[in-house]
Amino acid sequence: MLNQYDVIVVGGGHAGCEAAAASARMGASTALVTHNKDTIGVMSCNPAIGGLGKGHLVREIDALDGIMARVTDQSGIQFRMLNASKGAAVRGPRTQADRKLYLKAMQNEIFNTPNLTVIEGGVDDLIIKDGAVIGVVQADKTCVYAPAVIITTGTFLRGVIHRGTETIPAGRVGEGPAVKLGETLEKLNFPLGRLKTGTPARLDGSTINWEILEKQVADTNPIPFSYMNDNISVPQIACHMTYTNIDTHNIIQENKHFSAVYSGQISGSGPRYCPSIEDKVTRFSDKDRHQIFLEPEGLDDNTVYPNGISTSLPASVQDKMLKTIVGLENAKVLEYGYAIEYDYVDPRCLKPTLETKLLNGLYLAGQINGTTGYEEAAAQGLMAGLNAARHVSRETFVLDRAEAYIGVLIDDLINMGAPEPYRMFTSRAEYRLLLRSDNADQRLTDKGINWGCVGENRIAVWSLKKQKLDHARNLSFALKATPNELEKHGITVNKDGKRRHLQEILCYPDIDWDKLATIWPELKDVSRDIAEQIQIDASYAGYIERQMADIVAYRKDENLLLPNELDYSKIGSLSTEVRQKLEVARPNTLGAASRLPGVTPAAIIALLRHVKRKNVA
Ligand code: FAD
Repeated sequence: MLNQYDVIVVGGGHAGCEAAAASARMGASTALVTHNKDTIGVMSCNPAIGGLGKGHLVREIDALDGIMARVTDQSGIQFRMLNASKGAAVRGPRTQADRKLYLKAMQNEIFNTPNLTVIEGGVDDLIIKDGAVIGVVQADKTCVYAPAVIITTGTFLRGVIHRGTETIPAGRVGEGPAVKLGETLEKLNFPLGRLKTGTPARLDGSTINWEILEKQVADTNPIPFSYMNDNISVPQIACHMTYTNIDTHNIIQENKHFSAVYSGQISGSGPRYCPSIEDKVTRFSDKDRHQIFLEPEGLDDNTVYPNGISTSLPASVQDKMLKTIVGLENAKVLEYGYAIEYDYVDPRCLKPTLETKLLNGLYLAGQINGTTGYEEAAAQGLMAGLNAARHVSRETFVLDRAEAYIGVLIDDLINMGAPEPYRMFTSRAEYRLLLRSDNADQRLTDKGINWGCVGENRIAVWSLKKQKLDHARNLSFALKATPNELEKHGITVNKDGKRRHLQEILCYPDIDWDKLATIWPELKDVSRDIAEQIQIDASYAGYIERQMADIVAYRKDENLLLPNELDYSKIGSLSTEVRQKLEVARPNTLGAASRLPGVTPAAIIALLRHVKRKNVA
């Protein structure tokens, strides 16, 4: 049939690009239908990728051969390893990105992916037959058909921009909203809600007084996001910092009633961890200043993104407020900040594959599921793309909380919902000693190869790395020394006469690979990245053993599946409150049920007994 594909992806944002690329990598003929080819890969807000938790997601996407990390490596202009002085588990790779380079690299990926066709158009409606989606209808009434459709419309579903009392229907600044598709989902009884997010004014860098501001430089040796890259060739730039002050706060307080958020004009919840400056000044009224990072948006672009002061105050108030800030006294505004309110779908209506429970073949990914951020969107896009590509054969691809941050993200969303925009943090992961950004390939690439989503180039690179890791690990268990032998080389360990292998010796805080290479010269042949991995493994060994025991217990509960049609009213001992919570969330495993806030251990035991009895009967 004309216009027939295996998978249709609606929307060419961060979720859509990753979904389309993943589906196409699985060999599915894929159509990416998006408003405008030229906006594929646009960064709607801050020009940066990664950070704590978010950087882990990007590495995991890369380990499954996704595209975000490679695109970031081609466009990053200020690579920094956050928390570099802390333990490996909480380090987060981050870079600022050159917007134009990011968009160019993303479009290059998308337009050159085999099995992927880009169609320019807006999707208004879904075609449904026998309770399953079979295609989409575009605004010009053209139909495109597929047994699996992924909607990734970001902030566009009935989006409205707010700036002071001004309201403009929009998906983001300068682009119209997706109104009809929002109405379609409402008619289909999807549980919709409103969320909001905001962005600061963009400034003309040539009008900022850089000389008087604190500087923050990039890492000297930038570490790429992608396991496929050894180095970064994009020139690195510095950011600068400034602060709001009491005068700024007074102006905000005096004019707060004009802010769309405080005037009651916006009803949706905003991102708690990325609040507007109005929110910060109100919630933290004891603070006399808030930090602002002045981030250039590109190598050949004078636009500056003042990270930390997103706002929906009227333009005239934004001008006044900026004038009070050191270095920004004469800054010219290129585009005023604004807030945007949009529809999202309560993600508790999704299965772990991101397919909706309501409509067979319909998948949702990205900001539409209540998340905020490019990385969270891309991670969901990848998983939805893999699952949609195998929709017909019903093969499913799911990561659990002990395997990946991606697993944590999706498990949180489908069980807890997103009452406020959800962003990833390392603290959301219980097993974060294992889920590190340095070992995402060790955790996931073999799995990706089995799933069929990893290309030949990566298989070759990964196989070589695995050989090197195995060789170094074998060495680290084979080479041994007593405390006396080590002492001769200036290395002190407990004087207990015990012959220790390298892994044990590396646990001591002041001992590293280079030091040990003075005793065993063969260690010098091991490359730095591989040596670092062995060192990290050694330093976490004891903790990881304990965490593995926790994981065994967790998996036991995860293996107990709860049927979607489970009648909770039949479990007599559940309180009304707990029963209602379970009925709304419909957790798919006993483990997921136990993580729901308010679901007591006693309720879990009752649930376990009930399901076991049912299974036996
Ligand atoms: P988007 O990147 O929004 O992409 C959606 C795509 O779908 C677009 O290409 C659009 O053209 C297309 N589309 C929409 N409807 C249709 C349709 N019916 N038919 C065809 N195509 C369609 N993130 C943060 O982490 N921190 C922040 O502080 C932050 N602030 C933000 C402020 C603003 C004003 C905005 C707009 C976004 C902000 N974000 C922030 C969010 C970040 O931009 C998103 O999380 C991310 O872009 C979501 O990716 P996505 O793929 O879900 O959607």
